[in-house]
Amino acid sequence: MFSKVLIANRGEIAVRINRALHEMGIATVAVHSEIDADALHVQVADEHVCIGGNAVSESYLNIERVVGAAVATGADAIHPGYGLLAENPLLVDACEAAGITFIGPDASALRQMGSKIEARSLMEQAGVPIVPGVWKAVTDSDEVLAIANEIGFPIVVKASGGGGGRGMRVARTATEVQQAFEGAVSEGERFFGDPSVYVEKYLDDPRHIEIQIIGDKFGNIVHLFERDCSVQRRHQKLIEESPAPILTVEERTAIGETAIRAARAVNYHSLGTVEGLFQDGKFYFLEMNTRIQVEHGVTEMVTGIDLVKEQIRVAAGEPLSFDQDGVQVRGHAIECRINAEDAAKSFLPQPGRITRWIEPEADGVRVDSGVSTGAEVTPYYDPLLAKLIAWAPTRAEATARMLQALEGMEIEGVTTLLAFHQRLLSSEEWASSETCRNLIENKQWLRA
Ligand code: ADP
Repeated sequence: MFSKVLIANRGEIAVRINRALHEMGIATVAVHSEIDADALHVQVADEHVCIGGNAVSESYLNIERVVGAAVATGADAIHPGYGLLAENPLLVDACEAAGITFIGPDASALRQMGSKIEARSLMEQAGVPIVPGVWKAVTDSDEVLAIANEIGFPIVVKASGGGGGRGMRVARTATEVQQAFEGAVSEGERFFGDPSVYVEKYLDDPRHIEIQIIGDKFGNIVHLFERDCSVQRRHQKLIEESPAPILTVEERTAIGETAIRAARAVNYHSLGTVEGLFQDGKFYFLEMNTRIQVEHGVTEMVTGIDLVKEQIRVAAGEPLSFDQDGVQVRGHAIECRINAEDAAKSFLPQPGRITRWIEPEADGVRVDSGVSTGAEVTPYYDPLLAKLIAWAPTRAEATARMLQALEGMEIEGVTTLLAFHQRLLSSEEWASSETCRNLIENKQWLRA
């Protein structure tokens, strides 16, 4: 097992990883930008290294500085968290060159799954159902139009390198095709340095269902069932839950097996998530995320398995500590993302200084946070401040528990989504698990 691990991230996930490492008796190194010198993730670590300026390109995305900090502190491994460098194969290459273990899959799996076009074609070959469309790059809008005429509108043009809801443009009619094509190409280029795009059918009323999987270096791969992340705005998740409220036992088992097939196709030996859309009883592969996810906590609450610890163990070469029969789902868990955003202002990020920060404490409630009173929320980084997770035997009880927890959480100094979550979880739409496509966009009262 490792004796010291560098955490190449910030915010709540860096704090979460630090906790797992300490519980395993492993020393931790935090990295930070100048403005993050007093951040919570720095305070909780055993050592810390300032790796540069506030823009992520100068610090958290700077591979040379991150790996340099690991070498300088004698860390044996790097945990990348999510976002930032987590899915960058160049970090894996740099770790290998420096003799440091990357806590994640190998570079080839990152490369295969990092390109949505390549991932789609691999999945097609492996017999995993994918959203109807093409699995090669399209080069002009006439080609998009021809495909749209074949598969039918609406369609979505997607950047192959896209992520976080960026680089996707929907076209509902032929007149929207050109703009969708150009928009996806330019966002792909601007945000991900990759202008290649492809086309798939845009499903009108899907649920976002994703399956947690984990593999080890001995060829074992198991799934830890699904999360439903259908409550989104601008194709980004706000609330996640497990189990999904709408799946039958047979559907759940079949989707789990599909996810394992997807992971096997790339010889996966780490923690990952197979994301898909579910509509009219059918599951379609969207992409595979080759890292820990923001919403991993809901799976931990219903299975009792610590995913971060298991991820670290398999990276150190240990076999999985459980098999498929050892994964049982108990009760229901819900997560609300507490972002520093204003729901009434198109969910725009709201920087500022946190003058009061009180977290709820109750049975079945978990808070993963990256800040405390006095913290400065800057415009440089992701606005996710904390995640509230509530567990109870049933969905209705978990909802009631979450509403209590939201009530007990006190944040002053910055605007957050606390009140938004209270409105949403008190709604009939939530209680009846109504499909959520455009739920937020269509209901003004949710945002006001
Ligand atoms: P990202 O990498 O940005 O997360 P995804 O391909 O996972 O991109 O899509 C993000 C979200 O966008 C999905 O959860 C879903 O809500 C929506 N979405 C993506 N593809 C489609 C599609 N073909 N039809 C309908 N909704 C889609």
